[in-house]
Amino acid sequence: MSKLLYRENSFCQNWQTVVTDTYEKDGLYFVALQETAFYPGGGGQPADKGSIAGVEVKAVEMKEDVPYYGLESQVNKQVDCQIDWEHRFDLMQQHTGQHLLSASFRMTADRETEGFHLGQDDVTIDVAGDKLTNKELIEVERKANQLLYDDIGISSYYVTSEQLARLPVVKQPTVTENVRIVEVEGVEYNPCGGTHVRSTGQVGIIKILKVEKQKQAQRIYFQCGKRAFETTKTIFEIVDKAAAQFQTNRMDVLERLEKQSADLQSAVKHAEELENQLEELELKEIMQTEERMTIRSLEGKTVKALQRMAGTAAESGKDFVILSNYSDKKLVLASHLEGVHSGSLFRESLAEFNGKGGGNAQVAQASFSSQEDLERYVDFLKEHYQSIV
Ligand SMILES: [Zn+2]
Repeated sequence: MSKLLYRENSFCQNWQTVVTDTYEKDGLYFVALQETAFYPGGGGQPADKGSIAGVEVKAVEMKEDVPYYGLESQVNKQVDCQIDWEHRFDLMQQHTGQHLLSASFRMTADRETEGFHLGQDDVTIDVAGDKLTNKELIEVERKANQLLYDDIGISSYYVTSEQLARLPVVKQPTVTENVRIVEVEGVEYNPCGGTHVRSTGQVGIIKILKVEKQKQAQRIYFQCGKRAFETTKTIFEIVDKAAAQFQTNRMDVLERLEKQSADLQSAVKHAEELENQLEELELKEIMQTEERMTIRSLEGKTVKALQRMAGTAAESGKDFVILSNYSDKKLVLASHLEGVHSGSLFRESLAEFNGKGGGNAQVAQASFSSQEDLERYVDFLKEHYQSIV
């Protein structure tokens, strides 16, 4: 058996010990240590990172409750061990923060925590029940942070099954022997094998980031301590960059954004009105000509606008209306001539011009792979018209 130092002292960062057993697997040399402070992972908390005799720990395997650490090279029997403390302290801030956030959900919103995930980026708990109101979430967050300001002591110890039976634990342990209790004084007794900070103040801050609905629960994304601080820094950077764009300060960004959005909406509306007026003028110009066949290239027009214009012109008496958007390589034909089916004509002839499209008897549309193809097709339609009148 290894002596599990992390169980008694979660602040042990380096120690000397001896290798008690080894094996080789998948190119790694696995070692068991007489004493270990490397948390092997479990209960939602990931395994520690670190080094043994200067060699990085790449993997952890449990064999009959003994953790084995996978190294890329062999080490001597006597070893110095070092925990990646930045990584571990972050995990402790998140894990203790989780206990306190769950406690706050229980105390202020009467919600039980059903799941916990501590990832590289995301930390989540799943709390039972329907959607939480904003008011509830604000209160849960406020209470959780109040527990940090109160800087309450945290301790851990093992209990017998008789002692366990007398404790008002927040959940039943998953193990029956050697049950370890993490106690936040006056707040809760929580069966947990993880590593925790010494007092709630060391969590720094608890911030809920977002809530997502799960099947029968709500997934709460949150961050604690330095992780929350780093996120805050990033958000400030984003807001300040936005403020610089608006040449204002960060407190006025939202107001400026709302104003710009409103300005944009009215500009779009105005552009639409102008577009409609222009369309009317263009149609008027087409209808004023004597020609029976109309061929126009109208830049910037959508296929829908071309269809609308060509359709109106054909309805108003033009025989053959060919409108195109040359740069977009789109073309529309409208005709009410007896014996002309625009859609069928397009379907039968387009392939030869590398075009695609179709339509109904009166209006058809096509798109081409090149402007040359579109030009050739306009010539083709011209000839077609001349051959039928
Ligand atoms: Zn825990």
